[in-house]
Amino acid sequence: MNETMLDPHLVPPVGSGTTRSTRKSAGQTARRASIENSLLAAVPRKDYRRLLALLEPVTLSFGEVLYDPGETIRHVYFPGASLVSLLTLADGHLAMEVGLIGRDGMVGVPLVLGHDVSSVRALVQGSGTALRMASADFLREFRLSPPLQHELYRYTHALMAQISQTAACNRFHVVEARLARWLLMTHDRVKSDHFHMTHEFLGHMLGVRRVGVTKAAQMLQKRKLIGYSRGDITVLDRAGLEAAACACYEVVKDMHDGTQAGNAMCKLRSPAAA
Ligand SMILES: [Zn+2]
Repeated sequence: MNETMLDPHLVPPVGSGTTRSTRKSAGQTARRASIENSLLAAVPRKDYRRLLALLEPVTLSFGEVLYDPGETIRHVYFPGASLVSLLTLADGHLAMEVGLIGRDGMVGVPLVLGHDVSSVRALVQGSGTALRMASADFLREFRLSPPLQHELYRYTHALMAQISQTAACNRFHVVEARLARWLLMTHDRVKSDHFHMTHEFLGHMLGVRRVGVTKAAQMLQKRKLIGYSRGDITVLDRAGLEAAACACYEVVKDMHDGTQAGNAMCKLRSPAAA
């Protein structure tokens, strides 16, 4: 790692309090939120209806820790408008983002592989809706539903690709390109041109010092690709941001979209290395 990692205990700057997941009342909310998650949307209606009966709508709060390394996974989460970062820890207190899960996926993938203990910290970095299910219910439904198995194996593979690509990205690519990539990944998942993120938190996501994030964000602002004010980020020029990002963005996006890995890997031959 060529950048200094920061103490994760300094972050996250919890904006809306550290309240745990709050339940919503109406089943109607569950129906809407479930549609937001593309993984659930891909499951046939018959299987989905059975899942829906076991899914609980929750609102995830910025800064909430869903699991820490070594903790038993008691629930899986299908994000809707929320975003969850997977952080790997070093020396027990240094953290860096290795994966980002939004409406495209599920938090709790180790269960798919037969493990009920998390190896990473799952940290909510974007408040919003999600559907959650108790692990025991999930495992039962997973065994009963080949379509759900298919979707989750596909997603697990894409997430593994994202994690390994992130490791290479953090080592080889400059902060500005990595920040552009991270903003695009977030933009894809929140489906809004506006989102809230402080430089301090971004530093942890990218594994760089806050000053490094500030400098990179200023460069993107100068090029009129983003607006940034008091933690409010606005994507002003999506195409420009794609041009500024390293090739890792498209590699991972193609994996999630189901494009052949071979085609995607060709895009790696980029001169964006640091
Ligand atoms: Zn990269």
